[in-house]
Amino acid sequence: MKQQYDVIVVGGGPAGLAAALSARKNGAQDVLLLERQADLGGILNQCIHNGFGLHHFKQELTGPEYAERFIDELKASDIDVLTGTMVLEMDAERTIYAINPKLGYLQLKAKSVVLAMGCRERTRGAIGIPGSRPAGVFTAGAAQLYMNLEGVRVGSRVVILGSGDIGLIMARRLTLEGAKVLGVYEVMPYSGGLNRNIVQCLNDYGIPLHLSHTITDIRGDKRVEQVVVQKVDEKRMPIPGTEQVLDCDTVLLSVGLIPENELSRQAGMQIDPRTSGPVVYENMETSLPGVFACGNVAHVHDLVDFVSAESERAGKAAALCSQSGSPSQDSIIELKNGFGVGYTVPQKIRPQGVEKSAEVFFRVNQIFHKVQIQVTSGDERIALYPREHMAPGEMEKIVLPAKLLEKVRDGVITVSIGKEA
Ligand SMILES: Cc1cc2nc3c(=O)[nH]c(=O)nc-3n(C[C@H](O)[C@H](O)[C@H](O)COP(=O)(O)OP(=O)(O)OC[C@H]3O[C@@H](n4cnc5c(N)ncnc54)[C@H](O)[C@@H]3O)c2cc1C
Repeated sequence: MKQQYDVIVVGGGPAGLAAALSARKNGAQDVLLLERQADLGGILNQCIHNGFGLHHFKQELTGPEYAERFIDELKASDIDVLTGTMVLEMDAERTIYAINPKLGYLQLKAKSVVLAMGCRERTRGAIGIPGSRPAGVFTAGAAQLYMNLEGVRVGSRVVILGSGDIGLIMARRLTLEGAKVLGVYEVMPYSGGLNRNIVQCLNDYGIPLHLSHTITDIRGDKRVEQVVVQKVDEKRMPIPGTEQVLDCDTVLLSVGLIPENELSRQAGMQIDPRTSGPVVYENMETSLPGVFACGNVAHVHDLVDFVSAESERAGKAAALCSQSGSPSQDSIIELKNGFGVGYTVPQKIRPQGVEKSAEVFFRVNQIFHKVQIQVTSGDERIALYPREHMAPGEMEKIVLPAKLLEKVRDGVITVSIGKEA
């Protein structure tokens, strides 16, 4: 094993796998992938349902099948891989400190680093659900791991809080395993999941979705015995008199994901409070030169196909950067989010780094029908993209051609949602 690499990738989920392969294909000679788990594949290993790969492979695959295609390609390459290796720290000069049970404490140096550590789930503590503290309260991903990887049944009468994709998929999974899912409760007036998952995971199994509801009490001594659910008003405050007591033994929480950015913060890179991920340029380079971020560590994605595409761009950019450095910082366009837009990735574009076009991803913060995505610079509207329907659960993408970027004044563009003309 070498101590110096052209590109080191941290995290062996779909983002890290795609980034490492792309870096190697785009001219990086020495590439190393570091993964803390014993196996590559990241969260996909526990996602045994189908629905992966429709965009990337034009095929419907399960999570492990999707990951396997990249892992097979990696095995056939000369990329160095260290699993069971936890990266503990990285500094701004791209020195990486990691620990491996056989090799011990490692100090490695890279010309470019790609951060692909994914994200973790918000817990009961993070959202402060009142009540006693019995066993039987799981995050949806933890329950998925127990069921799909360990073969353990987590409960028989289940209440799910949060209608994000993981919650919806677990409602179906638990039903298939013989549990009774009493309902999925969602604090917002709309679901946070993809429409196809509401249809395929709830409607097809007769599982009710209760919008504008939350759990206000968890009761039980050793194990969950009851939960209290309540309607909420438009400020998401429980409405007195709407309490309903449900007899159940299990609560599943699907209440949001947080990008895993301890390494990024500690290395001193700029973090965007809107995404909880690093601020990135058009090629996914962070505020630390030569350090890139992609996949769920940069922003929470809905589909893994977009993770792979974004990470291929990051891997290619990391390879180019290891050979000829970062694009010039002569002019920088800042992307601001206007009405209806929660965040944008990238947050900054260097026109010198854009060959043909720059892809911009974002999520809206409410449901829209028949609207236009508007891109403005100063008072001028420089691009419009019509959309029939947009929802916070679905990531949006617009493509800004290099020619359009020439029209930008004062180094700022705003992405917002407006009514159809
Ligand atoms: C329950 C569930 C259902 C989903 N269903 C679908 C679906 O139907 N269709 C679809 O397209 N997408 C789906 N997704 C989304 C998709 O799986 C994710 O977008 C994708 O896995 C994110 O990839 P990633 O590589 O960024 O993160 P991850 O898959 O989380 O990989 C990150 C990796 O980094 C490693 N790591 C973290 N920190 C360190 C460290 N310090 N040192 C070393 N390694 C580290 C982790 O161990 C992990 O292997 C689903 C996701 C979940 C959770």
